Amino acid sequence: MYIMNPLDPKEFRRQGHMIIDFLADYYQNVANYPVLSQVEPGYLAKLMPPFAPLNPEPIETILQDLQHQIIPGITHWQSPNYFAYFPSSGSTAGFLGEMLSTGLNVVGFNWMSSPAATELESTVMDWLGQALKLPKDFLFSGCGGGVVLGTTCEALLVTLVAARDKLLGQIGRENAGKLVVYVSDQTHCAVQKAAHIIGIDPENFRVIRTKRSTLFTLLPESLLSSVQKDVQNGLVPCYLCVTVGTTSTTAIDPLGPLCKVAKEYGMWVHVDAAYAGSACICPEFRHLIDGVEDADSFSLNAHKWFLTNLDCCCLWVKDPPSLIRSLSTHPVYLENNASESKQVVDYKDWQITLSRRFRALKVWLVLRSYGVANLRNFLRCHVEMAKTFEELVKQDKRFEIFVPRNLAVVLFRLLPSAVANIGNGRLQNGSVKIEDVANEINRRLLDSINGSGTVFMTHATVGGHLVIRCAIGATLTEKTNVIMAWKVVQEHADTILNNEIKSKFGIY
Ligand SMILES: *Cc1c(COP(=O)(O)O)cnc(C)c1O
Repeated sequence: MYIMNPLDPKEFRRQGHMIIDFLADYYQNVANYPVLSQVEPGYLAKLMPPFAPLNPEPIETILQDLQHQIIPGITHWQSPNYFAYFPSSGSTAGFLGEMLSTGLNVVGFNWMSSPAATELESTVMDWLGQALKLPKDFLFSGCGGGVVLGTTCEALLVTLVAARDKLLGQIGRENAGKLVVYVSDQTHCAVQKAAHIIGIDPENFRVIRTKRSTLFTLLPESLLSSVQKDVQNGLVPCYLCVTVGTTSTTAIDPLGPLCKVAKEYGMWVHVDAAYAGSACICPEFRHLIDGVEDADSFSLNAHKWFLTNLDCCCLWVKDPPSLIRSLSTHPVYLENNASESKQVVDYKDWQITLSRRFRALKVWLVLRSYGVANLRNFLRCHVEMAKTFEELVKQDKRFEIFVPRNLAVVLFRLLPSAVANIGNGRLQNGSVKIEDVANEINRRLLDSINGSGTVFMTHATVGGHLVIRCAIGATLTEKTNVIMAWKVVQEHADTILNNEIKSKFGIY
């Protein structure tokens, strides 16, 4: 019988080097691939054998298939021409940290199961918290602390559970049906999912409207009137999610004034700074989270704009015992002296899952390899490139900047006036509105750009308007890529507008 050793050090070294070489070549060539994968649904099933292999295959063959079968179905988030959603900024340090974490493969659910995994996590969370100038209440060096989770969705769920249990501890569990959660119509959908999972009555999930004239931010007075109405109706405010850098438009909710309203009514305030939080290590952007001292929890995704490869959500809380009371478990098989001494952190009690990855290594490598000074400069470069893109858009009178830019995402669209010649008949007889035509043409423009494979951008629909988002932040992006991206947009706009006008005059 053939006995294999799946952790043979010699093979590990040989194959590991091959994968590093593969990825180094990939980063070298990634700009040459269509950014948005151009495959059709189901493409891969046609290429794959129907059953798993019974016998071993060499890594060389597998890598060939990776190149020819998998890479065509990859949308290249690391491409310098990637401007979609939010960036997923990988780096050498982020990758190496991930590699170390995967290689050591420890399951650090409690302190004893890998003391360094826990202690490094507490250390880097204090380091990062200090770099963000978070109040000491959020740090272990104060009375708070931080934990590295996978994603913001998890941070929202665990803080919402803690908020619920803390409040029900005061008012009695029989009042669970009265709890109200407050968000704006720009808040990430993950809060609604979290509220659904923990059993908040859907009737008590308050989505407060925002407006373009106030930059899609949640207004304290809107929150206040909503809360007052609920209280009058015998409901109990429980949780407010404030977003610093919303997903659609990077709107910055006014944290300080919102906290003031929330505190008056005893709510837990979570600050979701998934994207924009990273920028707050720069003194000039730190004001975005002014008022955080009055919040209860704060999270950012280091895997978005902090050079930390997926996944890495950093969550700080002021009152760790409230998380622990909601999430701790005490199975006999995990009993140990360290936990009983209460001198250690057992991170299993700060999160949903028991087993956990050693993600702190990534944050540690990123912070040490680049240093806070370089990280700041890296973020600033992206903001500068976004300014360049914004200036280019402003020079073309067919387009508008839809909302003023915050940080490195530019929202723009073809103006209704630029599409006024299109679908004129339908416009004149009133069967369509000019805004609908604008939405249709902007959608077509975006599809056309992305279909070319030269750049990839995505859209947002806010206030009934479809707008195109150019999110700058891919690690390899340089100014030339940004200038080229704008040229691509203009060329596709030329084609679409010209074709539309020709078709209107019956040339086609
Ligand atoms: C990206 C984003 C999320 C979701 O992040 P996950 O890590 O994918 O859960 C939540 N909120 C905001 C504001 C985001 O931008």
